Amino acid sequence: MKPTPFTESPSDAAERKAVAPVICYPTQTLPRPDLAAYRAARAGATRIDTVVVPPREAASWTVPAGHSFRIVSTKGPQVGDLNLFHADNLNERLYTGKTRALNGTHLGPGDQLFSSFPYLRPMATITDDTLDWYGFDAFGGAVHDVIGTRCDPYTHALLSEGGQYHHCCHSNLTRALAEASGLPLLEAEAHVHDVVNVFMCTGFTRDTGQYFMKASPVRPGDYLEFFAEIDLLGCLSACPGGDCSAQHSSDAARCHPLLVEIYRPDRLPEGWRPPALNSYDRSHGR
Ligand SMILES: [Zn+2]
Repeated sequence: MKPTPFTESPSDAAERKAVAPVICYPTQTLPRPDLAAYRAARAGATRIDTVVVPPREAASWTVPAGHSFRIVSTKGPQVGDLNLFHADNLNERLYTGKTRALNGTHLGPGDQLFSSFPYLRPMATITDDTLDWYGFDAFGGAVHDVIGTRCDPYTHALLSEGGQYHHCCHSNLTRALAEASGLPLLEAEAHVHDVVNVFMCTGFTRDTGQYFMKASPVRPGDYLEFFAEIDLLGCLSACPGGDCSAQHSSDAARCHPLLVEIYRPDRLPEGWRPPALNSYDRSHGR
């Protein structure tokens, strides 16, 4: 709980609060993908691989630029924590903060996932989502957020007087990345980053602004699909929180596997070009 304000409201407080907000990054200036072209090209794609993400574990896969991958709910409501890297350069990785600033707190079809500085370019485009009907609920909740971090053993230790738990998404992603990259665990850990919370339903409470979660509306058969703009290495953790209706960082919740399906297209979206590296010259004015 935050303390009641120490400072008395100024006489024009209501006036100041009534100023209408402006969108930080108006989408009129953000190049948006031609979603119809992506979806038309997707129609003839062939599934070439399927990866099982076991409950409370993570798995990895690679997908070449121009291919698609689909995260599928299988046996029951389950949330997944997604990390993305350039397949040949772990330093180019998903930047959820800028992805959020550009697209909004929750992602859906047509949104693009951006990579870290100095690359800052689209890594993937969301082309399909069977939960796109959900929108925002009465609590301000929505699915597929880029606002959370990932459940991790450090926060757990902080909040549980030193409790040790090794199947947090952070730990699962670390093990999966170590295996995929051949890096020692502690080196791999440094590359693990904030996630897309696939299928998770989250928001901020209106009164206190606290991050909340609620039971995911995902059901078996639902999926979220991405088009790979660049060669990607993906890592996905099936969160120990299960549907995230109650708690995570424990073995208490019912958990289910997730599937990742890789699709090879028979053609590329019309007009599509691989995204170039960011054009900033990096002189920083010197
Ligand atoms: Zn988690």
